[in-house]
Amino acid sequence: MRNWNFVNIASIVPFLTQLLGLTGYCLVPEFCESRGREWIIAVMPRVRLAACPRCGSSKLKLNGVITRTVRHVPVGSKHTRLKIIMPRMLCMAEKCGKSSTPSLPGVSSGGSITNDLAAVFLGLYASRQTFAEIALHTGASPSTVARWIQRLITALDAARPKILPPTIGIDEICMHDGADGLWTVMTDLETGDTIDVLPATNQDELEKFIRRQDDISQVTGISSDGAQHFIDFARKNFPHAVRTRDRFHIITDLLEALQRTRREAEKHKKMEMDTSNTDSDADADSDGDEEAI
Ligand SMILES: [Zn+2]
Repeated sequence: MRNWNFVNIASIVPFLTQLLGLTGYCLVPEFCESRGREWIIAVMPRVRLAACPRCGSSKLKLNGVITRTVRHVPVGSKHTRLKIIMPRMLCMAEKCGKSSTPSLPGVSSGGSITNDLAAVFLGLYASRQTFAEIALHTGASPSTVARWIQRLITALDAARPKILPPTIGIDEICMHDGADGLWTVMTDLETGDTIDVLPATNQDELEKFIRRQDDISQVTGISSDGAQHFIDFARKNFPHAVRTRDRFHIITDLLEALQRTRREAEKHKKMEMDTSNTDSDADADSDGDEEAI
């Protein structure tokens, strides 16, 4: 472990600034260091608090510093951590006296990585790298990578406008044994894509699904099985849509009807045969009678 001297840092500052893309920070060269495969880059937010976030007073006094370490995009072949030195400001207003620190540019609150690194995770994930590979490249642990990718995908999904397709299918699916094992699956009938999976089949859950949508006006058709709660849901939320039974149930209904017709035809045939047998017996009797006459 060795500290960089000022001359070394000064010679690579343009290089670092370009690579790190640290808008909102300035370097603190005397605290930067190189540790094996890792850089520790000391930075400080450029902007200090102008007013107390609690009372709004501008009477602030520097009251020490707080250091936070977050992971950043690797520089060259080295993993990189930012040692962020945040000035702590004490409010001098009467009845306040609270200390505050500025929020960090480029780091989400409570985050242990910069937003830039989060974007790198997502890029590598999109290029089909595994969590372990991404971890190896970036110096984060595989569980950190997994957690952040999950978080980013959830955020991207939340930002995407929720517009229901023209035709949707709604059905139950058994996820596991037990009373709460039945879930609801919503599908786009044109593409076959799953729109959503709801952890229950009751009206509450279905209504929550509707509230999550930005636009449901495009739905012109909805198909489901004969379950009354699905029919009620469709009637209430899509009164102008065409409601149909799903393909599976149409086929099972047709097969049942076919079976019923076949059984009836068989019964009919049997009855006819029985009748004709009785008739021929009767004929035989009458023949006998005729003979007797
Ligand atoms: Zn204050």
